[in-house]
Amino acid sequence: MKRTVTPQDMETYARALQHARETGDLTSEEVDLLHARFIAEDADKTQWTIGIRSLQWHHRVNGKWVSAAPPRELQLELELMLVLKALQAPASRAATAPTPVATPSPAATPAPTPTPTPTPTPTPVPTASPKPTPQPRRCPKCGREVAANLKFCTMDGTRLP
Ligand SMILES: [Zn+2]
Repeated sequence: MKRTVTPQDMETYARALQHARETGDLTSEEVDLLHARFIAEDADKTQWTIGIRSLQWHHRVNGKWVSAAPPRELQLELELMLVLKALQAPASRAATAPTPVATPSPAATPAPTPTPTPTPTPTPVPTASPKPTPQPRRCPKCGREVAANLKFCTMDGTRLP
């Protein structure tokens, strides 16, 4: 399985390899092993590689490595590419400016203020003129209902207020 890489990618990987050798992240054998497989192909299946020290491009012509300018795109074994990318990560981190860690999370969209439901203007209750429920007039003594016009209780003759 191969993946498309650019010559710039390959140069980055070459630097990462060289860096790994310098820092001891990889032994010389490991670097040589990776470099031996560090061969990409162009569309015509011509093999290309880059010197990890010289960063010089070569392609293989009749079994010989000949210096040449690389094509715009190359195919590299995915497995190798992943190894090289893993190498590249710490090396490029040291070389380039630190990327901001966290992109600021977008400001939380404020909760929509609820449109106030119009409070229905209360239909003014007509202040009813206090219609006193006509309390039946009662005799204070016997408690019987007595007619409003009477002055005395018809039962016991008590004087009504
Ligand atoms: Zn009475």
